[in-house]
Amino acid sequence: MDRQAKAVVCREWGQPVQVETITVEGPKRDEITIKIAACGVCHSDLSATTGKIPYPPPLILGHEAAGVVVEVGEGVTAFKEGDHVVSTFISMCGKCSQCVRGRPVLCENARKAMFNLPDGTVRTKGADGEPLNVFGACGVMAEFATMHVDNCVKVDETVPMQNAALVGCAVMTGVGAVFNTAKLEPGSRAAVFGIGGVGLNAVQGCVTAGAEMIVAVDSNPKKLEMAKEFGATHTININDVDDAAKAVKKLTGGVDYAFECVGAGPVVEQAYKSLGRGGTAVVVGVADPKDKTTLTTLTLPADERTLKGSWLGSARPQHDFPRILGLYKAGKLKLDELVTRTYPIEDAAQAFDDMVAGKNARGVIVFD
Ligand SMILES: [Zn+2]
Ligand SMILES: [Zn+2]
Repeated sequence: MDRQAKAVVCREWGQPVQVETITVEGPKRDEITIKIAACGVCHSDLSATTGKIPYPPPLILGHEAAGVVVEVGEGVTAFKEGDHVVSTFISMCGKCSQCVRGRPVLCENARKAMFNLPDGTVRTKGADGEPLNVFGACGVMAEFATMHVDNCVKVDETVPMQNAALVGCAVMTGVGAVFNTAKLEPGSRAAVFGIGGVGLNAVQGCVTAGAEMIVAVDSNPKKLEMAKEFGATHTININDVDDAAKAVKKLTGGVDYAFECVGAGPVVEQAYKSLGRGGTAVVVGVADPKDKTTLTTLTLPADERTLKGSWLGSARPQHDFPRILGLYKAGKLKLDELVTRTYPIEDAAQAFDDMVAGKNARGVIVFD
């Protein structure tokens, strides 16, 4: 059935987001309709409003949400009405060679579902009946969303929705970079460059994985304070030092793991330079396509350093989302503390402004 829903829409790059009433069609084969309960506001949503992520408007934002299944399409067996699900913005077909080898974030079919559902169409229409694209095959900054089952993960019903939502992007990206990409060894020394929603989760991932030293690096004192609350053992404000990499090295003797959570060539260089011998730098931040990094080539073989990338925390969402929520329930990951502020959908533009101003660990839009 068709449902009316308020949704946060980008109509034009460079303009503030707007809240519109849209129509969400019911599910077709292998799709489900979800009543969204909570959706995190992420920098990637902002990037889609500026064109840095070039998904064509009109575009319904949102890719980090949790909600309840209200309708299932033909052929759906893995979900039923009433199930709690979290969205995943990478479509995972489960059948291609990358999916089969356990790397679903690299799914060969994911590009078919960047701003539409995997069949190339959408279930969303504006007031004039025009089709509305959906961020990451999700478009979940809305009261309802119809998604393909390949973009949904069933989760524990006892976890508050606003916490569960964050696992869909920020938590998975930060914690997964530590657990899955770096496979951080207990007792090691780590540095996290850039303390946004993802960087905070890299910090707590390091804590949970048993790092001995965790150095948080940022320019914002408030964010460094938050990093301490999430378990950073040391902080470095880049405005207080000549060279952040040297400062990290002085403090730690060179880290075993450095996590770059900004997405900028010069910060990648800093993360790489802060490594000790045998260290691994993990690039988590999403840089502009033209951005470049320069390294001293000899240090790769001579120090056996590694530079690697991490996409959505190298997630296997069906396995990792429940696992991360399990760690939260066991008191080993902080999710309550990540939600600094919640907003009704009418205040979506304010939520974006607050993110740009760096006010929140995470701002979350909550629905009735
Ligand atoms: Zn995101
Ligand atoms: Zn696949």
